[in-house]
Amino acid sequence: MSRFSDTSFKGLKALVRVDFNVPLNDKFEITDDTRMTSSLPTIRKILADGGAVILMSHFGRPKGGPEEKYSLKHLLPHLKSLLGDNIEVKFADDCIGESAIEQAKNLKPGEVLLLENLRFYKEEEKGDKGFAEKLSKLGDLYVNDAFGTAHRAHASTAVVADYFPAGKKMFGLLMESEVNSAEKVLHKAEKPFVAIIGGAKVSDKILILENLLEKATDIIIGGGMAYTFCKAEGGKIGKSLCEEDRIDTALEIMKKAEEKGVSIHLPSDSVIADAFSATAQTSTSPSNAIPDGWMGLDIGSYACEQFINIIHKSKTILWNGPMGVFEFEKFQHGTREVAKAIAEATEKGAYSLVGGGDSVAAVNQFGYADKVSYVSTGGGALLEFFEGKTLPGIAAISE
Ligand code: AMP
Repeated sequence: MSRFSDTSFKGLKALVRVDFNVPLNDKFEITDDTRMTSSLPTIRKILADGGAVILMSHFGRPKGGPEEKYSLKHLLPHLKSLLGDNIEVKFADDCIGESAIEQAKNLKPGEVLLLENLRFYKEEEKGDKGFAEKLSKLGDLYVNDAFGTAHRAHASTAVVADYFPAGKKMFGLLMESEVNSAEKVLHKAEKPFVAIIGGAKVSDKILILENLLEKATDIIIGGGMAYTFCKAEGGKIGKSLCEEDRIDTALEIMKKAEEKGVSIHLPSDSVIADAFSATAQTSTSPSNAIPDGWMGLDIGSYACEQFINIIHKSKTILWNGPMGVFEFEKFQHGTREVAKAIAEATEKGAYSLVGGGDSVAAVNQFGYADKVSYVSTGGGALLEFFEGKTLPGIAAISE
């Protein structure tokens, strides 16, 4: 497999798949540009080598044809300001066709061309070969830097790679660091390895839990999903979140963990509330004896201590999903303490990977993003990686 860093792009046009699917407000202003800034090192390296960059991305969920609000042209001014005045950034109002080909052909070294939204063609998500081949004609090499969509077998994320010979397709710097970080945790974890899994739904996390049973030393389960496990063990959970149809699954996971010698840790106590509200009345309770009419919305102080101790003694840490309803100040203590403990363990030499929308939002909000080893940009893609699935975007280049 060709390495991006070892490649010289001098005189070449690189077709770069990025994930520029940034959130916009109703004035078309970008409210979080992380996805754009994450791909800047890749773009800059190609330009610095004397190459030209053709950027392609999806944006929002258009219904299979052009829609003004999903045009990537809204991102052009910000892209220009990120790259600086001395870089020429052009826009093609179609991602395939005569004009895109013409603009790509005329692109000079050091210039950038942003193509219009790939999802204006339904062929993109269908992984259509003809569409992928048309895209491939635009560049001399294919660079995939879109980890966020690596779990999709779309034309631009996977199929297009078939039209480039080995040596002319590679991961970009973001994709490379995402893959290295995820592989380090899943396949080369130094033990003890703790996986901290939280959030609302057990059903979303079953596959990841099952796969982690093969890898982790400890699994901490927090957040709303913990209460289905507490109930499965015979606890009383009041009106806490519970997926009744997943109680058997929770029992099976706990049984398998025991057989494999993996320790599953549930929160011994909870901060409980009389309503799902930022202003609810609160109290504390053992997680298996929550009074009727009350719900667990955060892990309690004993659980915090218990989880912090496990995190501190671990050498590898994976965190996906908050410990409570951290969006409400009254219930953010557990998530904040876990973030802090991960930062402390990292400082003492552990390797920590934080991934999944809400845990990333939490480390950012609490100021720990630069104190953990790696913050992933991929939500669904990272989850699928840890479920043990082959990601089409990775396989298309590495196989
Ligand atoms: P997920 O998308 O499954 O990772 O879930 C994230 C969401 O879970 C966040 O919005 C949290 O507010 C929510 N959450 C975490 N803990 C709880 C809880 N104890 N009860 C209800 N929702 C929770």
